[in-house]
Amino acid sequence: MAKCDEGYLCAVCGRDVSAITESALYLRFVLGEVPLELLHRLPECHIACDPALAQYVAHAEFAPVVCDGPFDKRALDAEFVSAEEARVTRAFARLLAIPKLGLSVPEYPLSVTPEECSS
Ligand SMILES: [Zn+2]
Repeated sequence: MAKCDEGYLCAVCGRDVSAITESALYLRFVLGEVPLELLHRLPECHIACDPALAQYVAHAEFAPVVCDGPFDKRALDAEFVSAEEARVTRAFARLLAIPKLGLSVPEYPLSVTPEECSS
């Protein structure tokens, strides 16, 4: 935890993941897919370097990513894709807001803010 200010290197491109807003690991954490205790043990990666996840971010602050291969969303069920886009984009928007929200790390995941739940 003391290493917050130090950069983590992306496991894919080898460059520094300098901000939480470009971290695929934190995006997955916000989504509830990475438990807190693994957050500092799993390899860091840019969101854009993880196309299978990044392709679902439909946000003005994020350059669209295409995921070639078997996980290409264009080859997947449209209903699944739109649900994933809603889920991942919402998490990305939260990630962008986190530096301004003043939350502690355990409060990052969307699951701890039930008032945001809607369907
Ligand atoms: Zn990268």
